[in-house]
Amino acid sequence: MKIDPNDHRVHPGNKVDLAQRPTKIVPVYDSKKAYKKMLEAQVVELSELQRLNYASNRQAVLLIFQGMDTAGKDGAIRHVMSGVNPQGCQVFSFKQPSVEELEHDFLWRTTKRLPERGRIGIFNRSYYEDVLVVRVHPELLRAQGFSDDAVAGSAIWDERFKSITDLEAHLHSNGTRVIKFFLHLSKEEQRERFLARIDEPEKNWKFSLADIQERRHWDDYMRAYEACLSATSTEESPWYVIPADDKKNARLIISQIIVEALQDLKMSYPKVSAVRRKELLKLRKQL
Ligand code: AMP
Ligand code: MG
Repeated sequence: MKIDPNDHRVHPGNKVDLAQRPTKIVPVYDSKKAYKKMLEAQVVELSELQRLNYASNRQAVLLIFQGMDTAGKDGAIRHVMSGVNPQGCQVFSFKQPSVEELEHDFLWRTTKRLPERGRIGIFNRSYYEDVLVVRVHPELLRAQGFSDDAVAGSAIWDERFKSITDLEAHLHSNGTRVIKFFLHLSKEEQRERFLARIDEPEKNWKFSLADIQERRHWDDYMRAYEACLSATSTEESPWYVIPADDKKNARLIISQIIVEALQDLKMSYPKVSAVRRKELLKLRKQL
């Protein structure tokens, strides 16, 4: 079955209604074996494209992963990037901000971690948390230096959306391609995954009380995501809503989107001029 990134893309101007977007679709693979083969082929392709990206050293790629707890962000990153040379790829996870980070504007901590040309940078959570978890818990704005009026008001979210789209437009015109994935999980599937984190001892470390507390705000999160996806998906830096109830299927869709995005960069190995070629042949004789 063919994966079409367009099926999952949020087009600019779309008003996202997450209830209308599936968390589960007919899998693109027929069996576990078929899944493994498909993913392996994509991983090989991705690794070759990244070698080319590294060699051409013209552009950076930033992949942003967002989603509720247990949506499968870590696993998707691990599986999809498994074949890429670690030298060409950097992963950063953004958790509760530190005191130092809170003393700066909300884009500061991620800006320092942007990928350099020729690399793929991955953000496991990102500056988007500042219009998601912080929107669900606006009191967090106080620690970011905002007044009570700002905390009570609603203007700040549109301002932040603008900061984000401005940043991404700036990155795009300076050679960084930004692609964003929202792993769309159902509340029921999250329940199953939390149960597994409690029932399976080797998964206990992943479980925290705070996770259960956040689950109570599920509907608020969905509304925050809808506003965010609607406001920040652009032609150049699109959001993709990935059905995430089936982890394998999600990984195949994600890797296909990344492969096609890299192919779109139309990269080539640096050309060798006739002069340089002559030089090389001369040097060769000295060996
Ligand atoms: P995890 O990814 O499961 O390790 O959890 C990280 C936690 O950090 C999540 O609950 C995020 O919502 C939270 N987090 C990330 N960025 C921020 C932020 N800017 N402000 C508050 N909480 C955040
Ligand atoms: Mg967690």
